[in-house]
Amino acid sequence: MMRNAKGSLVRPVPLPASASWPLVTPLSPSVAYASDTPDALDDQYEGRLQGYTYAREGHPNADVVAARLDMMEGIDGGVVTGSGMGAVSCVLMGLLQSGDHVIGGAQLYGRSTRLMAEDLPRLGIATTLADPCDVAAVRAALRPETRLILVEVVSNPSLRISDIDGLAGLCREQGVLLAVDNTFTTPRGFRPFDHGADIVIHSLTKLLAGHSDVMLGYAAARDPELAARLRVFAVTCGLAPSPFDCWLAERGLLSFELRYDRAQATAAVLADHIAGLKGVKRVIYPMREDHPDHARARGLLAGQGGTMVSFELDGARTAANAFTRAADGLCFAPTLGDVGTTLSHPATSSHRALSVEAREVLGLSEGFFRVSVGLEEPEVLMRIFSQAVAAAI
Ligand SMILES: *Cc1c(COP(=O)(O)O)cnc(C)c1O
Repeated sequence: MMRNAKGSLVRPVPLPASASWPLVTPLSPSVAYASDTPDALDDQYEGRLQGYTYAREGHPNADVVAARLDMMEGIDGGVVTGSGMGAVSCVLMGLLQSGDHVIGGAQLYGRSTRLMAEDLPRLGIATTLADPCDVAAVRAALRPETRLILVEVVSNPSLRISDIDGLAGLCREQGVLLAVDNTFTTPRGFRPFDHGADIVIHSLTKLLAGHSDVMLGYAAARDPELAARLRVFAVTCGLAPSPFDCWLAERGLLSFELRYDRAQATAAVLADHIAGLKGVKRVIYPMREDHPDHARARGLLAGQGGTMVSFELDGARTAANAFTRAADGLCFAPTLGDVGTTLSHPATSSHRALSVEAREVLGLSEGFFRVSVGLEEPEVLMRIFSQAVAAAI
């Protein structure tokens, strides 16, 4: 049995001495951290000494990821949570209170919409959904007790572009907080704080970690007092991320910009290719001139179209089934931002709870697919899409 310096039979056995240090951030799964004395622990809790106590309160792997995200978004003090929805909940439930009113974008991520429609009202927080591409519609939804507006930059799966600059102006004028879920765009495509956002939210699960093996989220606020409230609420509600997930996410982040640039360049080429295929009704990609928000996308996203392409097959469910079956090598899976290209079919997944009529209003027919473009060779993807669309019609 190993003994440590103080003769204990259990922990901690001292790490082997080394004058050099690891290239890679060590994984620190420890739940608890031992201190020298009550005085030292007191100093830590009071912030006079830097140190960890208990992993729900913070741990090195989470702090390393938070620091990277802070740098990418140009802010300090962001908090990493156990999932993207953890970050959305942290913002809405940690900052709002009974009697407040919140406006959400009309095409938010499904679970965010559910939080707005089902859970916040139960807690006495009134909610309204409004079209974030139309500042006048959002203005019309304002109430004296409106505290916060939550929008995504690019809507899923219609890829409409929110009028972030207009909304930021409205929020400034009205003293309302603007929270931006930047998951789809990522800080590589868009930095909300540079455009007047007060709060930025991410699901790291998607493009940022990028390998579909981690669930994590991130929330940051410009105002240090709000940032502190987010951190305390995350700790209190147990939104703490797993050290291993953070360790994997840090590794994913090291190649994030390369992955993003590569997938985005392929997406632009693939969008034009799909638009030229017989049997395709329409293609949605922000950098195509036929996109309804093309001018705004050029300005707001600085000419970057992102890594997502949506398109509509001219056919019903049978065509959709034939398409995914023939799309050899592409996974039909309800996520995005993986290293490989994935396909999503909103009518049977993200938007299945809607009636056929409600889906029709959003343009989400049985032939509608969203493509999250991965790292395959563009020529390989173009060949797969040519074959799969031909098989579907
Ligand atoms: C996936 C997603 C979320 C939720 O993130 P999870 O990590 O799955 O909890 C929130 N917002 C957007 C825009 C997303 O795509």
